[in-house]
Amino acid sequence: GAPLLEVDDLHVEFRTRDGVAKAINGVSYSVSAGETLAVLGESGSGKSVTAQTIMGILDMPPGVITGGEIRFHGRDMLKMDKDERRKIRGKKIAMIFQDALSALNPVYSVGFQLAEMYRVHEGMSRKDAKARAIELMDLVKIPAAKERVNDYPHQFSGGMRQRIMIAMAMALDPELIIADEPTTALDVTVQAQVMDLLAELQRERHMGLILITHDLGVVADVADKIAVMYAGRIVEHAPVDKLYSSPAHPYTEGLLASIPRLDLKGQDLYAIKGLPPNLMRIPSGCAFNPRCPYAQDICRADVPPLIEVAPARHSACHFAQQVLDKNGGS
Ligand code: SF4
Ligand code: MG
Repeated sequence: GAPLLEVDDLHVEFRTRDGVAKAINGVSYSVSAGETLAVLGESGSGKSVTAQTIMGILDMPPGVITGGEIRFHGRDMLKMDKDERRKIRGKKIAMIFQDALSALNPVYSVGFQLAEMYRVHEGMSRKDAKARAIELMDLVKIPAAKERVNDYPHQFSGGMRQRIMIAMAMALDPELIIADEPTTALDVTVQAQVMDLLAELQRERHMGLILITHDLGVVADVADKIAVMYAGRIVEHAPVDKLYSSPAHPYTEGLLASIPRLDLKGQDLYAIKGLPPNLMRIPSGCAFNPRCPYAQDICRADVPPLIEVAPARHSACHFAQQVLDKNGGS
């Protein structure tokens, strides 16, 4: 179907006393109803800044949108008036953050905080709102919701708190959820449970889901497509199975090689050498060139455009075709 949300050639910079940090340098992606897009990258890659720009929670200033559009159902949110934008953000688009403890208010019960969503946005009575809060807690599979509705955030485990965050996001029946590292703070087994819940709700309600993560391992089972970000650009974009089996960009190749594999005991992990660039001094040409094992002179001279190397597969690398061929992808 038609895309729910389209980010189109977005540019964002941070103007600080020390200089201009180019955080987002022409990012485009889209997500449709019922579809999950994973946005993958190291910290500083621009994956969270893109989400914050969509949600209108970028620190402004120093954050400045210098170009591009963010379309929701085809209409540019950046050109809407404040009221119209507010109706979309928070209601039609909900966000889930990494740290539930700081997103929840410690002095109110979780039931109260869930009920507030209905009281504030839908003018429900206290009694009805509380009933809805319990339904939400059931929806996200919090055991004994009725008995726990008056408990405070600190009385729940990290995994249960993250379920409450998901409940909060689901309250107003959004069309799109943006989840920024939703399981990063949790133990591995709890991570999988929370991710399964999110994926299940996304399927049942036919929502769009943008899943932001630094961890390729957590998105393999739930994402339809992946955008890999580096230094404020998308360097590879592909259906998830294709990206895993045959990466078309050296950076993705490095990320995949860094995932510990249970079947290869005692292996040397290939960690990508070096650090992501300082966004005030992004290397010329391909921003990945100082860390890339394939780099040639052209990589230091020209920025590689994001091109289609195979059906539905895009890579921003001067040697994308060779990398894809080597990995058996074409
Ligand atoms: Fe490596 Fe060059 Fe491709 Fe950049 S363009 S990823 S430096 S081979
Ligand atoms: Mg982040």
